[in-house]
Amino acid sequence: MTTLHKRTLDTKRYRWRKANGIQLFTSAEPIKQHIAELGGLGVTPQMIGYVVGCDRQAIQAVATCKRIRIDFAARILTVTVHPHPRQLHVLAIGARRRIEALQALGWPRRVLAARLNVDSSIVSQLCSQRHTSYARWHAVQNLYEQLSGTRGPSNHVASIAHQAGKVPPLAWEGIDIDDPRTQPDWAAAGIKLAERPVCPRGHAYTAVNTKRTADGRRSCRTCRRVNDTTAKRNARRRAANAA
Ligand SMILES: [Zn+2]
Repeated sequence: MTTLHKRTLDTKRYRWRKANGIQLFTSAEPIKQHIAELGGLGVTPQMIGYVVGCDRQAIQAVATCKRIRIDFAARILTVTVHPHPRQLHVLAIGARRRIEALQALGWPRRVLAARLNVDSSIVSQLCSQRHTSYARWHAVQNLYEQLSGTRGPSNHVASIAHQAGKVPPLAWEGIDIDDPRTQPDWAAAGIKLAERPVCPRGHAYTAVNTKRTADGRRSCRTCRRVNDTTAKRNARRRAANAA
């Protein structure tokens, strides 16, 4: 184990590579894309910085670079949507999904709160916030491991959760529960299309994204937009081919 400070080590490596003509910089483009993609999913420059070991400004500055140091780029690429122990704040979605899955199994919020040693309101908060602390996320992950194989004490809680479209742990088996891009296996959970909070392509039925059809069914605005764009593009292509 080396006793050298990380920065000293980086500098030494840099000098050695430079002396040996090894490439030191790489295109910043893929790194910018990675940062932007993480940003779109709620991973802030500060959260990236915690893992990389630099401040928020250093991550934000990548946007204006053409080339960046290879070692810096590699460290940024290791950051994912997954909570990391070095992050003070992490995405809350995995914790929320785990709480909801336990409710779908019949575990009441107040029981979960008592087991987490927090007030019931903290559990509600966790279910509405985009970010939480690493410590809280980790506590929920541990609780989920303990309880996700056991039915909870309340059928009433389970049935309310089911009506609200919350899925039990079974629906998350083999699916990355912490990744905002994933969807549970709705069919495995026995939740019909009309009861799911998302369209078949996974867009959330938020107030803004939902249109009611004449017969009262929900219709996804994002899908309609995509369909319209594709239809227009195809029409243009046909017109171009005919000309
Ligand atoms: Zn959709």
